Amino acid sequence: MACCSNYSVYAMTTNDLLSLTLGIAGDYLDKLPDRRVGSLASYDDLLAAMGGELSDGPVDAERVIRELSSAADPGLVTTPGPRHFGFVIGGSLPATLAADWLTSAWDQNAFSFVLSPAATAVEEIARRWLLDILGLSPQMTMGIVTGATMANFTSLAAARHAVLRTAGWDIEEQGLFGAPEIHVLTSDESHISIFASLQMLGLGRSRVTRIAADDQGRMRPDALKTSLANLSGPIIVCAQAGNVNTGAFDPIAEIAPLVHDANGWLHVDGAFGVWAAATSTMRHLTKGLELADSVAVDGHKWLNVPYDCGFAFVRDGNAHRASMTLDAPYYVKSPNEVRANHNFVPEASRRARGFTVYAALRSLGKQGVGELVERCSRLAARMAERLSAHPRVRILNEVVLNQVLVRFEPDDGGDADALTAEVIRCVQADGTCWLGGTTWHGMHVMRVSVANWSTTEADIDVSADAILRSIPA
Ligand SMILES: *Cc1c(COP(=O)(O)O)cnc(C)c1O
Repeated sequence: MACCSNYSVYAMTTNDLLSLTLGIAGDYLDKLPDRRVGSLASYDDLLAAMGGELSDGPVDAERVIRELSSAADPGLVTTPGPRHFGFVIGGSLPATLAADWLTSAWDQNAFSFVLSPAATAVEEIARRWLLDILGLSPQMTMGIVTGATMANFTSLAAARHAVLRTAGWDIEEQGLFGAPEIHVLTSDESHISIFASLQMLGLGRSRVTRIAADDQGRMRPDALKTSLANLSGPIIVCAQAGNVNTGAFDPIAEIAPLVHDANGWLHVDGAFGVWAAATSTMRHLTKGLELADSVAVDGHKWLNVPYDCGFAFVRDGNAHRASMTLDAPYYVKSPNEVRANHNFVPEASRRARGFTVYAALRSLGKQGVGELVERCSRLAARMAERLSAHPRVRILNEVVLNQVLVRFEPDDGGDADALTAEVIRCVQADGTCWLGGTTWHGMHVMRVSVANWSTTEADIDVSADAILRSIPA
């Protein structure tokens, strides 16, 4: 039979194929600390190397893997390595990478208990451990999603349900047409994913009230108070723990009572900053976090699990379920009921992401999570200190966490935006480390973010040297 002869081209057993893959992956991982960090590959080169016409017949799996790995390699960015300081990027702790391989081998569908009792149980365990580490209520429900964007989306869908339910409107059944208007207040500094979530939820990215922030990017409670003063009806307020530029925290302990006095829902985007709650030295920055009605957190940033992973935590479990369920909305009957993962996320069939979370938390331990966060933050402070010794460098933020904003200023009072862009370009071309630019208060600046478990002081020092030698004489 033709179909069977086709399969005969798979000369290797699956085990042999995976052993081959282990070798390729092992080589990549061994070289991580020394690999050039940014990629120089062009899009066209990659299309040419990996593309071409799809063959009519099968290609041997060994050849597929060998050719894929060599063709893709020049286009890989060393984001899992210790010196990628762009955006906010974590790596993969060894135990999480191994658990991720098992997740693929097991190929479980995390949709429901009947499809995977283990994937269901591990998500429940992750929920309990995470809430404990973050100092949040053990009653909060949790959905594991692809990242903080979907965690913000999921949380705000629950918020939308709850504030409209209070107004006598069933959003899931009736939709938004004719619904009472929801007042959405965000920080002027809210992450773009908040606006993307509002756009997807029919709440509009522009019809929000943006609350003024201070010089570090923290929402100003007095400005929030003024905006809330004359509002009534459904209210959602979006605050954040960890500004994506400065790392600063909105004063949640001051914001929460204002929101709750107005009968509003407080959502906190804590993609990476929330992990400060796992430390003893920086926990105070998250003061009041336990008062939030929903919290969005990333797993693939500071927890250092492989892409992709994020968590939506919601205090009102009924609102969470009602907004996400595939079933007809129903309400909690027994606290001991078997978890139905699909009730907490937008997806149905889904990767069993709980295994990597479990591996991260167990391999680090409760204290280890905090130590990882403290270590990265110390390294960020070290980078700021090394750079600020140079007369043309100005650090623009208070380095309270893992983020540093760096501006390069010419001696003659010339164009600092242009000089900063030039330094960023040179650092990226050099390849020792990778840093990107961002806009802060109208200025072009370099952003440094330290969130990888494997970064050392030596990595900071060679990177600081690379940055300093990129400043034109
Ligand atoms: C990274 C980030 C997001 C978006 O997270 P993704 O994982 O990329 O979806 C949202 N908010 C903040 C504050 C972030 O840092």
